[in-house]
Amino acid sequence: MTDPIRNLPSPAGWNLDSSYGRLPTAFYARAAPTPVSEPRMAVLNRPLAESLGLDADQIDDPAIFAGNTLPPGVQPLAQAYAGHQYGNFTMLGDGRAILLGEQVTPEGGLFDIQLKGSGPTPFSRRGDGRAALGPMLREYIISEAMHALGIPTTRSLAVVTTGEPVFRETPLPGAVLTRVASSHIRVGTFQYAAARGEKMLLQALADYTLHRHYPEAAAAQHPCFAVLEAAIARQAALLARWQLVGFVHGVMNTDNMALSGETIDYGPCAFMDAYDPATVFSSIDRYGRYAYGQQPEIAQWNLARLAEALLPLLPGDEPQAVEMANGAIEGFEIHFQRHWLAGMRSKLGLFNEESDDAALIQSLLGWMQQTKADFTNTFRGLGDASSSALFPDAAGNEWHQRWQSRLSRQPQSAGEAAELMRRHNPAIIPRNHKVEEALAAAVEKGDLGVMQRLLAALAQPYDAAPRQAEYRLPSGSGSYRTFCGT
Ligand code: AMP
Ligand code: MG
Repeated sequence: MTDPIRNLPSPAGWNLDSSYGRLPTAFYARAAPTPVSEPRMAVLNRPLAESLGLDADQIDDPAIFAGNTLPPGVQPLAQAYAGHQYGNFTMLGDGRAILLGEQVTPEGGLFDIQLKGSGPTPFSRRGDGRAALGPMLREYIISEAMHALGIPTTRSLAVVTTGEPVFRETPLPGAVLTRVASSHIRVGTFQYAAARGEKMLLQALADYTLHRHYPEAAAAQHPCFAVLEAAIARQAALLARWQLVGFVHGVMNTDNMALSGETIDYGPCAFMDAYDPATVFSSIDRYGRYAYGQQPEIAQWNLARLAEALLPLLPGDEPQAVEMANGAIEGFEIHFQRHWLAGMRSKLGLFNEESDDAALIQSLLGWMQQTKADFTNTFRGLGDASSSALFPDAAGNEWHQRWQSRLSRQPQSAGEAAELMRRHNPAIIPRNHKVEEALAAAVEKGDLGVMQRLLAALAQPYDAAPRQAEYRLPSGSGSYRTFCGT
């Protein structure tokens, strides 16, 4: 699909393609990072660098990740997109992010390398194009935690401080995050193409998405429809993964949903402590639109916006296209339920299926909500020999016995069930108070050691060592609020 112009690999391993730049020019604006006065490395993800084919020693240079120096042959751009923000449609675009290109890995993978907070672009509107250190480290921590949990996500290659303040409510230290993604194609990118009203743009984007993420759809009778169905299936799988670990994204606008099926745009996100479907962390989500329990429904709503955007490319006349699209969107619920139920069975140590399993799970969740039980620690505790101690009250005790007899009806041993549970119930998640502690040390004292220790613990979420007990304590206060901090 794309012509093979590629920059020669540099000694550091940079091998950046510019396939997005070969889309019609409506999809982006040329924009270069604005150099900063005093770039300093805050954190570099060496294992990620190596997996991208980069030499971690040679790229350990803050000037690269600040945008002061560009890898050879880079043609930077800002992507155009639109999106429903809290339900309202708006034209957006990268206002503070710049795509350097797509790194071609030694295995032939293609990964966007994007600088976030690298200065204004033609899409910045009234924004300064910059980012503060706290939110960029936050994205680094949470995205790497999600990756270690095995959940599809964009990743973080580096954070550098700029030596320049950004002005929010107060002056804050500025920073640039280097984000690595399978792509930055969003539901909002399709909405943008549809809003432009040129079928050619929509077709070009759909072809690009197909080649990049869903090559198997090329063989389908209706390739665009196959892309839609596959994207819906991937989001359903992703949402189930979020729900199974208590992750609250916080701002599921359609511009923050990626066609790759990766979690993207970590803003006011956090992990739930006590189980409650109404959990919201974002200070600006006043009506709980993006609460924990709403997430699957919102994902489906967003995917309906994707389907709407794709209608002109679906076969048949409009009523036929709408019917096909509706069928695909209904498929979300089926996929989601299947993934969620399978995941919950594993969390409970169940290898086989019984018709009452959904009721057994709902009963546990109901008890957890009533007793304000910690989501992560309750599930993790199920795999311990002393699991009955988690359920001191009569209702809890009854549930525990019901679960025990369910376990006894499967052929696998208690040891095998415990092992299954250990692999599906993380011990260590990025607890809000530990994330805040790490950010405060970095931002207020320039001490990055607290974050490094947190990152090390988060890298092994399923095998907690006894010395890591401090990372397993719930955050306590139920009124934790995250601020977008843009
Ligand atoms: P987000 O809330 O990060 O998903 O961003 C929503 C939109 O606002 C995107 O188009 C961003 O590029 C834009 N934006 C956020 N912060 C800034 C900023 N400081 N300067 C310019 N644009 C921004
Ligand atoms: Mg966004």
